[in-house]
Amino acid sequence: MLREFDYDNQAVVDIVNEMIADAVNKSASDIHFDPTPTILKVRMRIDGELMDYAVVPEIVKKNLTTRIKIISGMNITESRMPQDGAIKGEFGGKDVDMRVSSLPLVNGEKVVIRILDYSMSLQGIETLGLSDYNLQKVLKMISVPNGIILTTGATGSGKSTTNYSILKRLNTPDKNIITVEDPVEMQIDGLNQVQVMSEIGLNFAEVLRSILRQDPDIIMIGEIRDDETARIAVRASITGHLVLSTIHTNNSLNTIERLTDMDVERYLLGTALTGIISQRLAKKLCPKCRGSRPATEYEKIVIKKALGIDVQGLYTPVGCNECLNGYKGRIAIQEVLDITTEIKDAITNSTPKEELRKLVYDNGKTQTLLQDGLNKVVNGLTSFEEILRIIDIEEDFGEDEEELKNALIGRSVELTKQSMNKKSLPISSNQENLNMSFQPSRNMQNNMMMNQNYNQMQGFNNQMSLPQRSQNTLINTPMMNQQMYNYNQNMMMNQR
Ligand SMILES: [Zn+2]
Repeated sequence: MLREFDYDNQAVVDIVNEMIADAVNKSASDIHFDPTPTILKVRMRIDGELMDYAVVPEIVKKNLTTRIKIISGMNITESRMPQDGAIKGEFGGKDVDMRVSSLPLVNGEKVVIRILDYSMSLQGIETLGLSDYNLQKVLKMISVPNGIILTTGATGSGKSTTNYSILKRLNTPDKNIITVEDPVEMQIDGLNQVQVMSEIGLNFAEVLRSILRQDPDIIMIGEIRDDETARIAVRASITGHLVLSTIHTNNSLNTIERLTDMDVERYLLGTALTGIISQRLAKKLCPKCRGSRPATEYEKIVIKKALGIDVQGLYTPVGCNECLNGYKGRIAIQEVLDITTEIKDAITNSTPKEELRKLVYDNGKTQTLLQDGLNKVVNGLTSFEEILRIIDIEEDFGEDEEELKNALIGRSVELTKQSMNKKSLPISSNQENLNMSFQPSRNMQNNMMMNQNYNQMQGFNNQMSLPQRSQNTLINTPMMNQQMYNYNQNMMMNQR
């Protein structure tokens, strides 16, 4: 529903302030002001999705844009060139930092306000959504005084938040921490932060060379984008510094591949790399209104294959006045890779990708993004649909994981069922009945253990006695959704 303002009587100053306060209260990440030949459309990005917010009539359009340009320190007489600005102030009762940019379009200037929300990273590493198992791995990685720890993911996957949270944990008076960033997204007391300015030649590599002469203990490099930065990062680490950085890849394996494709000495890279944290963001189920429904055959098979557990029911989005379609906020799905001696050797020796994949994922210690995501589904933090949306089926699975891949694509649940009884893949060995009469692999045992811990923690009983659905429905059909809907309605009625 669009927000209405009294454009005839309300001062533009107040309207802009209210819009920003609204955005802050809705935890929006961006506000877009889109000019059309007549009106100005205002949209907000909330939990990653851009949605309509208000329509500003033509008479106020120009003044509203000008007001934003004034408070963000832009030149109001210039409207033909793009500009950057910033707003700092209290909106909606919170101290907020904003980055503003304007772009001249054919219909006028488009302004986007990026709201930098620091509240999350300031709460620390424990609130990043890491499972207990992954949190312990990260804490161990950052306790070592040298090495490179990389956080990877697409733009907007919360990489900076993770890095700042780690820095916050390491930030003690006995450490000299220097960062080089583009841009500096958050200023933290006790850190020495450098802003890259490529227009005057102050690039990552240039700053890094100077940082090394500043007696650093810990160095944070905003992003490794080029070979030279990668080389300096590796050298800094092997000369006894802890280096944190981010890289734009989608999982642990691709990160190693990307780094080895760069012009960096492989044996140094193998020595330097300590850990990789890959992450993606999934929408979080609103805890106020989430409901439950029976799991589909498809979901049961995928969860069985990925986690080695049987589920009967899953949590599902419902929707209430405190959330958006049953979701509120986002949660990170992570894959934390501890670089073992075997992996270090493999990097040094240019081991082929499929062999490297085995070392990375078949060591019984790495919980994949899919596994971490599904654990969070089973525990009601997010939904199965969300995890399917963020998993990259082609990129995230190897040649020997065809079955799981097929199960995910929903291509052949029947086929998978048959092969589950024949082939002895670790996750599907001889299940006479589905109630744990199989021999779990090491990887599976770990996952089962993790799940038990989770379940105990959450007090969640997996074997909810939900009604059985017909066995011949393979994948989601409208018919099934209707059944689910009816089921949810019944559940909700019963709860009341
Ligand atoms: Zn809700």
